[in-house]
Amino acid sequence: MSTLVTASLAAWSGVEGRPLVIAGPCSAESEEQLLETARRLHGARVDYFRAGIWKARTRPANFEGIGDAALPWLVKAGRQFGMKTATEVATPAHVEAALHHGVDLLWIGARTTVNPFSVQELADALRGVTTPVLVKNPTSPDMALWLGALERINRAGVRRLGVIHRGFSVAGNTRFRNAPMWELAIEFRRMHPDVPIITDPSHITGRREMILDVAQHAMDLGLDGLMIEAHPNPDQAWSDAAQQVTPERLSEILALLKVRRETSADVEYLASLEVLRDRIDHLDHDLLDLLAKRMRVVEEIGEYKRANNVATLQVSRWSALLEDRLARAVELGLAPEYAQAIYEIIHRESVRRQSEVMSEEPAGSTPPGRQD
Ligand code: PEP
Ligand code: MN
Repeated sequence: MSTLVTASLAAWSGVEGRPLVIAGPCSAESEEQLLETARRLHGARVDYFRAGIWKARTRPANFEGIGDAALPWLVKAGRQFGMKTATEVATPAHVEAALHHGVDLLWIGARTTVNPFSVQELADALRGVTTPVLVKNPTSPDMALWLGALERINRAGVRRLGVIHRGFSVAGNTRFRNAPMWELAIEFRRMHPDVPIITDPSHITGRREMILDVAQHAMDLGLDGLMIEAHPNPDQAWSDAAQQVTPERLSEILALLKVRRETSADVEYLASLEVLRDRIDHLDHDLLDLLAKRMRVVEEIGEYKRANNVATLQVSRWSALLEDRLARAVELGLAPEYAQAIYEIIHRESVRRQSEVMSEEPAGSTPPGRQD
């Protein structure tokens, strides 16, 4: 059950049947830069013109944003070229200044979402506003922290709410600046079907060449909108240069996107889908039957090991089994990572079940070989 009471995206943005688009530079640098970006975005079907006014930089001495002085530039550029405006807020003073200048949408950045004290201060400053607020995911993949931030804002009476998936800091090198976790976005959709999910391919990829692919993936999943950074001269941008695109490229990306419908009323489509889903249902039931049968054999082995006073885990058997199952999975056209992940779960649960069987040793029994 959703703990959130929110208004629909269509109700506050008027956007339906296509993605909501938020675009503009990472940072406001000058009035001319904002006016030029907005002018060149004109006609690209951008709903909200974004620019960072206060920049939460990971390291000091990087450009930290122009600050309040840039707010009138943002609002002027947006109005002049027919777009609503959006910026990031991290403190109550930012909220007050942005609302005072008439910014139309606010978002909470990834580095702020991680801190419940900061989020609560923002929630108090946002009490009862009708300005939409979007909450970026925290830097670490912590669903409770993300949801908690939304709940704080929602409890302050803000109904026009959404989230932005901008990827997560994860250990090790990935192709991404911030690795996307689509499964979290999907889980979010399942738990809170009415909360719009915006994808930020710029901060996910960190590289402009990869933006179209990630944006298309978001559309394939039926997510609701995109936030993409655009700058008149990306390579010279004062922040996030590698991931910004020109306004012209942004228009091209939007034109190239294939937007998927949520469903189709076509009778033939619905009938075929029904048949295919029926097959999936049957296969899933067979899968569960097999898993249950497998578990009964696992338990039998556990009892046998217990009777012979043998440990539950034999590493060499586990290595050989995994190797065999991965080879078979690859022969069957399945990705080895997929098979490995499945087998790790199966094995973990088998060991857990066998440990339970071990501890269920009948009272007074003395297994052969044990010296009491
Ligand atoms: C941004 O949108 O410019 C930004 C700083 O994003 P994030 O909070 O996702 O790092
Ligand atoms: Mn940025």
